[in-house]
Amino acid sequence: MNKESLLKKAYDPNTFRQKGHELVNQLADLLAHTQNRKGKVTNPKPPEELLKFWKSHSVQGSHDLFQNVIDQSTKVHHPKYIGHQVSVPVPVSALSNLLSGLLNNGMGIYEMGEGATAIEKIVVDIFCDHIGYKGGGGVFTSGGTLANLTGLLAARASYKEKKIWTEGTSDQYCIMVSEMAHYCVDRAVRIMGWGENGIIKVPVNDGFSMDTLALSSLYDKATKDGKKVLAIVGSAPCTATGSYDDLHAIADFCKDQKLWFHVDGAHGGPAIFSKKYNYLMSGAERADSVVIDAHKMMLTPALTTALLFKRKDDSYHTFIQDAYYLWEGQEDREWYNLARRTFECTKVMMAVRVFTIIKEYGIKIFDEYVTRQYNLAREFAEVLEQSDDFELAIFPDSNIVCFRYIPNYQSNNQEDISELNRKIRKDIFQKGDFYLVQTQQNDDLYLRVSLMNPLTTMDDLKEVLDEIRVYSREELT
Ligand SMILES: *Cc1c(COP(=O)(O)O)cnc(C)c1O
Repeated sequence: MNKESLLKKAYDPNTFRQKGHELVNQLADLLAHTQNRKGKVTNPKPPEELLKFWKSHSVQGSHDLFQNVIDQSTKVHHPKYIGHQVSVPVPVSALSNLLSGLLNNGMGIYEMGEGATAIEKIVVDIFCDHIGYKGGGGVFTSGGTLANLTGLLAARASYKEKKIWTEGTSDQYCIMVSEMAHYCVDRAVRIMGWGENGIIKVPVNDGFSMDTLALSSLYDKATKDGKKVLAIVGSAPCTATGSYDDLHAIADFCKDQKLWFHVDGAHGGPAIFSKKYNYLMSGAERADSVVIDAHKMMLTPALTTALLFKRKDDSYHTFIQDAYYLWEGQEDREWYNLARRTFECTKVMMAVRVFTIIKEYGIKIFDEYVTRQYNLAREFAEVLEQSDDFELAIFPDSNIVCFRYIPNYQSNNQEDISELNRKIRKDIFQKGDFYLVQTQQNDDLYLRVSLMNPLTTMDDLKEVLDEIRVYSREELT
């Protein structure tokens, strides 16, 4: 076959139609299967085995390839998926992924992705509205990690000595953040070149929230050491235990010291949509910037992240340098030329995923979802509290619950308890009926669940507890 005929074949509309229907059928079958709690959540195989599998030429064509990828993936749509904080995408939102995948508009400049650019502004405005920003604005960007870095770059750009972007600096800048914060905040600081001295870790209280009473002395010490404190990052919530920082307390401190206040609401920012739980985000309206992942608690595929600013102009300061070939020297701040304000040049049409859900089901779906998951976590915590063989790390703020198994016949040696829980978690993963993860708090290991799946019920969770009891007995005999 010559080259031309291959290309012609690859773009044939009828083949696409047929393969598209096939894939949708495969995925709909997966949904039906998992929602009926059939099959496993995980089916772990050693990496070398899968490498060998894919290097062999046993897989032919896209249908076979898709099916094998489905089979070799963790099934987030299975109600017994209670692992990492990735969303369980609403199927119609995954279709919008296919839409943007085929249209493939770059969205850096308005000409490329006009409709999706207007949609992005509407969705950004909805977020700002629910945060309580008046005159706010922002952008969508590729993930919470990048959004936090971008927010901190904006903070740096609006610092009183704004010249770092053009002149660089040898001054020691720093930010303050809870020791429980997501590691990407630490990473952002190091990317900005401030080193380990650029991050001041604020201790947490018994509830794993930032001890805001410690801010004042840490700030004074940093200033005395010649550091320039630029911002405080609040976690809403922190990843490990799902505990929200006291955003008002941080806002008060930032106001007094004239610091930038950034809220990392990657996981729990969508509480703004819950009438019952929006109090957890209270104080975010006083923050200068807020990050919210839609691919965690807003039912979209990854990566879909909103970076919101209280003053919309701040988002135009982040990357001051001009790419003249894109903007031809235009002076005014055009909301619709997005690459000016985002790290990405070519950007995926990601806000369409959120807007698709809103158009299909109304914005109330986010209230229903967040409220349901946060309620379920509280009910689960109560069951754990009432049992005499489980220990809760902390009563949950969000849909993340950390706990461990301490059977009556177990010694009280903390190392033994951690070791037992580590083994239990490994056994569960290998067997694949549930998927949960683990977290280390001080020296203790806890089992950790994120209740992401809207079909997970209390009965599912009680089954996990029973399974843990069985595994424990097997481990100890
Ligand atoms: C998940 C998470 C991040 C990182 O976001 P990505 O979208 O995975 O890059 C940052 N902060 C918190 C609190 C998170 O939960």
